[in-house]
Amino acid sequence: MEPAAVDLSEDTLQAVWEMVGKLAESYRSEIGNMRISPAMDPAPIRDDLRAFDFVSSRPWRDVLRWVDAEMRKNQLHAGHPGYFGLFNPAPVPIGIAADALTAAYNPQLAAWSHSPFAVELEQHLIRNFAQRFGYSADSAGGTFCTGGAEANHTALLCSLTTQFPAFSEKGVRELDGDPVLYVSEHAHHSWVKAARACGLGTEAVRTVAVDGRHRMDVNRLTRLIQDDRRRGARPCLVCGTAGTTNAGLIDPLNGLADVCADEGIWYHVDAAWGGAACMVPEYREWLAGIERASSITFDAHKFLSIPMGAGVFLTRLPSALGQTFRISTSYMPRDAAGLDVIDPYTHSLQWSRRFIGLKIFLPLAVAGWDGYADVIRKQTELGQHLRRLLEADAWKCVNDTPLPVICFVDPGKDAPGYLEKIAEVVVASGRAWISPAQLDRPVLRACITNFRSSEEDLCTLVECLKDARSKLSC
Ligand SMILES: *Cc1c(COP(=O)(O)O)cnc(C)c1O
Repeated sequence: MEPAAVDLSEDTLQAVWEMVGKLAESYRSEIGNMRISPAMDPAPIRDDLRAFDFVSSRPWRDVLRWVDAEMRKNQLHAGHPGYFGLFNPAPVPIGIAADALTAAYNPQLAAWSHSPFAVELEQHLIRNFAQRFGYSADSAGGTFCTGGAEANHTALLCSLTTQFPAFSEKGVRELDGDPVLYVSEHAHHSWVKAARACGLGTEAVRTVAVDGRHRMDVNRLTRLIQDDRRRGARPCLVCGTAGTTNAGLIDPLNGLADVCADEGIWYHVDAAWGGAACMVPEYREWLAGIERASSITFDAHKFLSIPMGAGVFLTRLPSALGQTFRISTSYMPRDAAGLDVIDPYTHSLQWSRRFIGLKIFLPLAVAGWDGYADVIRKQTELGQHLRRLLEADAWKCVNDTPLPVICFVDPGKDAPGYLEKIAEVVVASGRAWISPAQLDRPVLRACITNFRSSEEDLCTLVECLKDARSKLSC
């Protein structure tokens, strides 16, 4: 019998796997010689794509080769060791393999009864991560998500559901005041989206001013909450960020915990990137107080270098998840009724869901916490080293964090757009990648995101910066 059009013969399949493995491996081994950033021109890509009208069929080998060439040419190679950009790591090889295996088995993570192993593995990981953050492994819970944005959205929903009994059925319109949430001006903008998606509107996101070290000002938070209550609003959530996207800043997590305890407000800590500090025993204290949070966002696809998307939502109050997401239907399987297990779809925004846990489990099982701690330590130390190299070249570092993201300026050079131009020249070199950012003034931002970055790559970056500076001064 001929295989179906979407299927392949066994011989062909062998050849496909061999080719995909070779392509992935040569991409990894050659990435360091590639230009990091692609050309900013959609026209040639669209021209190439026009050849695909999907009327005639094509040989798989040609299509795979073509896709590989396009991705090499038209992608920012965040896995390049000279990429000092946003929190986009090089993916760990065993995690890539795990993701391929996940696609092959394609377990359905909606109902426990369809994937007992996968669901139990994820719950085991949730307990382990919970413990790392200082929660009790026995009583904490959580769910895997696409990423930090979904985890933050989950936190907001849990806070609304648990604090306003009418919210689940009647929605925000039935509440006796407008729910509001509090973030610092450096918090991630996924809160704005979450506020929209929850029907709160973006004005519900109250921005709390920061102190002299760019951290949320606890006194101002208290005052803002009291003012809001006075005018009839209903404070529902405070988010402290542990490692801001711009500058790696850590809000005063214990101070915020005190306010939330006094005010009876859901306390969330967004540790999407910086949460990795909890995986290194001697860095744990940087995030002291995180264990007091009602819930935590952590992204394994950032500092742990897991292929996207691998978000983790953890909570000390796991009944909130069921309260928020449980729905009973006639069609979802009941084979596991009566067992002490969790159907993931009753604890998550998602319904049909990919097995996210395996690509985290495999690398963690192979490297162990100690292996990961070494990697996080090495990257953090490289961050310190980069600070020193920059200062030695008369750049000034202006953010106060032990985490490996450095915001810096060129003292005395305040012309508008100057630092943006420096970043442009560095990026145009193709050898290093940094970005402009905003703290209380424009800054340049460099983050150690890649476990393969070395001191030599830092030297290349500093060289590129020096070239850019001299190019712009003449
Ligand atoms: C990256 C990030 C997010 C968003 O996470 P995604 O995985 O991109 O959805 C939220 N908060 C912080 C602090 C982040 O760094």
